[in-house]
Amino acid sequence: MAGYAMGLKCDSCGGEFSLRDPLTTCPNCGGLLEVQYDMAAMRREIKVIGGSPEYDSIWRYRQFFPSVEEQNVVTLGEGRTPLVKSVHLAGKLGIDNLYYKNDTMMPTGSFKDRGFSLAVSYAKELGVRRGFTYSSGNAGASFAAYSSRGMFNALALVEYIANPVKKAMIQLYGAQAAVLDYDNFGQITAMLEQAAERLGLYQFVNFINPIRHEAMKTYAYEITEQLGRVPDAMFHPVGTGGGIFGAYKGYCELAHLGFTDQIPRMYGVQPAAAAHFKAAFDAGLPEAAAYGDCTKTIAQSIASDSPIQGGRRVLRAVYQSGGAALGVEDGDILEAMRDLAKDGIAGEPSAAAPVAAFKQAYEKGLVKASDTAVCVITGSAFKQPGAIKEAAGEPVTHIRADIDELEKLIVRLRL
Ligand SMILES: *Cc1c(COP(=O)(O)O)cnc(C)c1O
Ligand SMILES: [Zn+2]
Repeated sequence: MAGYAMGLKCDSCGGEFSLRDPLTTCPNCGGLLEVQYDMAAMRREIKVIGGSPEYDSIWRYRQFFPSVEEQNVVTLGEGRTPLVKSVHLAGKLGIDNLYYKNDTMMPTGSFKDRGFSLAVSYAKELGVRRGFTYSSGNAGASFAAYSSRGMFNALALVEYIANPVKKAMIQLYGAQAAVLDYDNFGQITAMLEQAAERLGLYQFVNFINPIRHEAMKTYAYEITEQLGRVPDAMFHPVGTGGGIFGAYKGYCELAHLGFTDQIPRMYGVQPAAAAHFKAAFDAGLPEAAAYGDCTKTIAQSIASDSPIQGGRRVLRAVYQSGGAALGVEDGDILEAMRDLAKDGIAGEPSAAAPVAAFKQAYEKGLVKASDTAVCVITGSAFKQPGAIKEAAGEPVTHIRADIDELEKLIVRLRL
């Protein structure tokens, strides 16, 4: 399969590079690289969205990826997750068409598996055998699983505030790991940008790695196939913004190829305590600056107080689609965890944040009752058990194993 990807292009200086080189950021200016495709050929030749139906994973859509030889594909069946229609929350709000893209059902429990399946496969394709990533927890676990499976030498740097379960999973999946201490998030982004220059080691950080977010385009393909149409609004939790940017890019491709004439409004969601995209969006700016304190929220996976290279791509996706960048309070996130759980899905706080944002957007009139909206539920609550207890509370009732006591309890609970 030759593929339609032609090369890498720098956002900042416009420099063009071969896809065969194991590049992360631009060798000329340090800007972010983007995969370019032969859209004219794609428009001529692509007749169906799911072009490789022999795969029941993101690889069903491999015609939209940089090409990877069969023997280099590292897959655990990631993607093709259920699109679940809300019953409970939709009923509470009196609306019809609210959906959850349930990526808690991914192999390692988070949507990061989309990106790492493609990025690790692609690294193998290039002959790269080692690399590293920074992680708030889920990325490290996913990177570890795919690297170990792909016989790839992986180092995961994990934030000190990450949940201990996530830290342990990185080690369980067999990667090398180190805990990352820092005072503010800007130190991490600075270190990663310098590492690209100085170490020449292949990086898997969103955007610094130009391949990971290409896999996030699969949101657009899967949801469009599952719904039979493009939704009106998408709600994504945003850390670096690889998820929302990739999904937007996927929808733009579908529009370009004639599968739709609509792009969903893209809503990016951050914790209010560290909402740099929201601050930039509210001020109408094309670039975000450091803002807030990323240790002051329960939504660890999307807690960052500074964007990678100003987050320009992410803001562009939000502005161009007619969406918004939103901030949600921890109390609303915990309530959204309960709402989502009553619909049958246990998401970690970061994954419930888009549900809180959807409620906020509905109240503000940003979404209408007739809109079809999708909240992307990016990660399982099981990896952040403390948050489950915080959202749910501990069970308080004890009874003895005795039929009279059981009867009394049933009466008391009015079951
Ligand atoms: C990493 C992560 C995010 C943020 O993803 P980005 O692509 O960095 O914006 C959101 N939710 C969960 C559960 C995550 O693990
Ligand atoms: Zn450049």
